Amino acid sequence: MNPINPLEKALHAARALVLADLVAGQVAEADVVSLVEDSVVQRRWWVEQWPDGLDYVAGLVAQDVQDALLERYGRWPLCPVCGSGDPHALDVEPELGPDPHWVCHQAGVRVAAVGALGSATDGSPSS
Ligand SMILES: [Zn+2]
Repeated sequence: MNPINPLEKALHAARALVLADLVAGQVAEADVVSLVEDSVVQRRWWVEQWPDGLDYVAGLVAQDVQDALLERYGRWPLCPVCGSGDPHALDVEPELGPDPHWVCHQAGVRVAAVGALGSATDGSPSS
């Protein structure tokens, strides 16, 4: 019997949180899910080099996926708080720290924890 490896646990949690937010934004398609997998693989290596960063993995995976989506898909996640003006993406804060949240810098608000975007956006389609 192997004890649960903290690294595997953190990576699994990060993957689940970011996937939940992708589902909330209705962008959890197969190629998008593979972006999450790619990030988890890279962050596994990263945490092996720097074990103290274990708590930062969820925020980092969220930012990796956000960057990858920007190239392929566009801005994600779009801000659900600001009803008018140019559509803009939320940012992860802290960029390198535990307990990551999505924030809107235009409104200056914390929108939701990473993984809880669905409750902030009500799951309603934005198209
Ligand atoms: Zn906003």
